[in-house]
Amino acid sequence: MNNKQYDVVVIGAGPAGYVAAIRCAQLGMNVACVDEWLNHKGDPSLGGTCLNVGCIPSKTLLESSHLYAAASKEFADHGITVKGLHADIETMIARKDRVVNELTQGINALFKANKITLVHGHASLSPGKTVKVSDRGNGKTRESLQADNIIIAAGSSAVRLERAPITDDYIFDSAGALEFDSVPKTLGVIGAGSIGLELGSVWSRLGSEVVLLEAMDSFLPAADKRISREAFRSYQQQGLDIRLNARLLSTSVKQKKVHVTYEDTRGAQQVKFDRLIVAVGRKPNSDHLFGDEMELEIDEREYIHVNKYCETSVPGIYAIGDIVRGPMLAHKGSEEGIMVAERIAGQKSSVDYDLIPSVIYTHPEVAWAGKTEHACATAGIPVNVGTFPMAASGRARAMAATDGLVKIIAHKETDRIIGVHICAAQASELIAQAVIAMEMGASAEDLAMTMFAHPTLSESIHEAALAVHKRAIHTRS
Ligand code: FAD
Ligand code: AMP
Repeated sequence: MNNKQYDVVVIGAGPAGYVAAIRCAQLGMNVACVDEWLNHKGDPSLGGTCLNVGCIPSKTLLESSHLYAAASKEFADHGITVKGLHADIETMIARKDRVVNELTQGINALFKANKITLVHGHASLSPGKTVKVSDRGNGKTRESLQADNIIIAAGSSAVRLERAPITDDYIFDSAGALEFDSVPKTLGVIGAGSIGLELGSVWSRLGSEVVLLEAMDSFLPAADKRISREAFRSYQQQGLDIRLNARLLSTSVKQKKVHVTYEDTRGAQQVKFDRLIVAVGRKPNSDHLFGDEMELEIDEREYIHVNKYCETSVPGIYAIGDIVRGPMLAHKGSEEGIMVAERIAGQKSSVDYDLIPSVIYTHPEVAWAGKTEHACATAGIPVNVGTFPMAASGRARAMAATDGLVKIIAHKETDRIIGVHICAAQASELIAQAVIAMEMGASAEDLAMTMFAHPTLSESIHEAALAVHKRAIHTRS
């Protein structure tokens, strides 16, 4: 039995945990990381949800399906003829698996290079900063690790609905929706959040008729209203049938179809699909981690309670990533991992929780950082707003990507940029410029005075910054 003492034991090797482990090792600490993930072949695989069944596989399939949709719908306009176009789903999924495998193996290599001890198994916390490791499901302690500091990065799992239990062939969670063996003719998605929209987009681009049922009456409520309106219009135009105010009542599988009953403002509605994806959010993996003898506080939504430095109620035990409050995003967890590692090393690091970029990788993409106009109004913050439509961008026209806009919100008195909201092709890349500007405390004028290369999508950020002071060149501000 390994009874070794470590400076730090990290539980979970997702983007929060593996980044924390690497940073701790860089800072000279002796680190072990315990992870229980098994891939669909039954092999241990690092990277957690993000690399195995989240960010990476979804973006890989979004890329493949985007190419297919471009070939089938857009190439002709460029004078490119394609004959015999066919989506070979088996090859597409195999490519996705290859990308995932390369990246998860890459983390093994990083662990080796940083001399991090990797322990495969289920970790549970015991008093006295002990982490017990067992084989999944059997509960028998195989190893017991002692640590001066423990970082819990056990992540989250898909929320299950009793009304739509996952089945082998008909009702899938987000992980199952990355493994389809064929394109369903009709596909239902419960939940029109980022995951539902991205997975719905993948299969819609490959030919499925997709209906998204969303319980709320507003679409993407966390986004700026103008952006969510624009995205909604664009998604509807490309064939995603998004039904708001649609509360799931029941599902049943009959004659190889999923029969779904939902309620909207007109009463009970029925619809049937070849397959159904349940994408109604994720919940923290805080159960099966420790018993009552541990004095770790958990909040009412099962998140491990932490302060802004990710310190739990027990000194020397930290929690980061999806298992604590805040948006369930890989980069947020990674930054928390870096902060905690550096604070253990005695540095004064912190995370700027006001500037976490959010992205939805549809087409156009949606991305934002900072405050929405609505939040500013509610908080009584006086603002100037500048917008620039992508239709007025030369590069967007060349790319036939004219849907959407860039919106910049600046403080009326100081001109400091406090929110940037984008619905556009490559918004995921564009938003980084906004985050850098906001981190540096830039004003709209700072961006307006900066030279952007022409023709680029980035010029739309420049024009939106000019529009804050009503002096955009290529549109009327
Ligand atoms: P996880 O990635 O969930 O990792 C936790 C790890 O801990 C897992 O390996 C798990 O097996 C292990 N573990 C749990 N309990 C124990 C235990 N007791 N003992 C040992 N090991 C344990 N985020 C983005 O930022 N961008 C995206 O584009 C994006 N796309 C997504 C698409 C989909 C379909 C999904 C499902 C999620 C997506 N996310 C995206 C969210 C992102 O995956 C998560 O925010 C991120 O993975 C959280 O990282 P984490 O390290 O906190 O947890
Ligand atoms: P996200 O949390 O971004 O992954 O989004 C999940 C979405 O699912 C949210 O927009 C929820 O409103 C929606 N949702 C949750 N439960 C249901 C339900 N029973 N029926 C339809 N939509 C739901």
